[in-house]
Amino acid sequence: MEAEKTHTPSRNGDPAADRRAAPGHDPLEDIKRRVYLASLVVGLPPIPLLWATARPGELFLRVGLPVLAAFCLWCMWALWSRRVPLWRLERAVFAAISAFVLGQLAFRIFAGTGWNMDQASLTETTYPMLAILCIIAQLIFDTQTALRLSLGLFGTATALVGAGALVEESGHRITLDQTAWIAQQSAFLAAVIALVYATSYVKSQLARQRTLAEAMHRLAHTDPLTGISNRRSLYAALRREMEAARRYGKPLSVILFDLDRFKLLNDTYGHNQGDAALRRVAHTARAALRASDHLGRWGGEEFIVLAPETDLDQARHLAERLREAIALDRPPGRPPLTASFGVASCRPDDSPEDLLRRADEGLYRAKAGGRNRAETAV
Ligand code: GH3
Ligand code: MG
Ligand code: MG
Repeated sequence: MEAEKTHTPSRNGDPAADRRAAPGHDPLEDIKRRVYLASLVVGLPPIPLLWATARPGELFLRVGLPVLAAFCLWCMWALWSRRVPLWRLERAVFAAISAFVLGQLAFRIFAGTGWNMDQASLTETTYPMLAILCIIAQLIFDTQTALRLSLGLFGTATALVGAGALVEESGHRITLDQTAWIAQQSAFLAAVIALVYATSYVKSQLARQRTLAEAMHRLAHTDPLTGISNRRSLYAALRREMEAARRYGKPLSVILFDLDRFKLLNDTYGHNQGDAALRRVAHTARAALRASDHLGRWGGEEFIVLAPETDLDQARHLAERLREAIALDRPPGRPPLTASFGVASCRPDDSPEDLLRRADEGLYRAKAGGRNRAETAV
């Protein structure tokens, strides 16, 4: 809701594409559609009743209510058929209700029964409706747009009433009492706008801070090149997993792998190709792992896998699977790539450093043994 929405309608008229094209596509769209539809089903029946009971002098209602009913029916069709993107529909409804409320106010002031009618009818309809519109604006627009629209509505209503106060010749002049009462209503509406805006502003600031905090957390824990966890994050995960493995008596394994002759790849194909290869390896490895396994970039062209609930034998198989996946991933035009793996399993009195050292020893043996293989420490 906070995202600024600038809408570019799709050129092919495809509603699904339109929906996707609308920036900030609303994940609550389906729920909203149902809620709106239910509101219309409840809100539609009173319209004919209002129409039937409208005073004969209330020409605006006699004509406006059938138009409103037709518009509601169209909205129900649009919600049901999904032929109109929800954001368009919301704006259309907002515009229509605003036009209806302001139109009714203008009609009361400058035509119809004028100010002879009792003040209560204005209290019952126009001002509460304007207050509701300000709240609706906050629901469907971003905070700034909603504030601008609310102030626009408020300003137009005040201008209409002010203009009405100046009309003398038709005998509709507003009395002092009425002026005071209108000022009261306007103050109430201004208070509603201020309150709704303040609430929305505070909410948007909180959301902004949360987003910022999340972004900072992501930056601090993610490797920018590959998008997987960085060394700091993996080390923290290793401590957590070791603690959990000890507490629940479950196995835990670590696989350290290093790309083979990566310097040569960089020198032969260029650093950009080297970066692309690192991203590809991260992607391939992630795809080969379980969701509960942690994958991280340990540094340079070295990666690490934490495999909870995995004993040494299973970890060896996993390393073998990763080795194959990386070696077999050879899209046309990309340099061939292999990796060597060191595998170690957690022992009862291991520190993280002990475990990592054994995995590193395994990796060293794999390199010494000819590369493109997986080894454990002796
Ligand atoms: P070995 O098989 O023994 O591991 O040989 P190697 O060439 O892979 O090992 P070495 O440690 O000599 O080289 C690692 C290379 O990885 C050197 C460095 O330029 C490269 N490298 C480290 N980080 C990055 C990176 O972020 N992007 C790219 N393109 N290269 C990187
Ligand atoms: Mg290497
Ligand atoms: Mg290395």
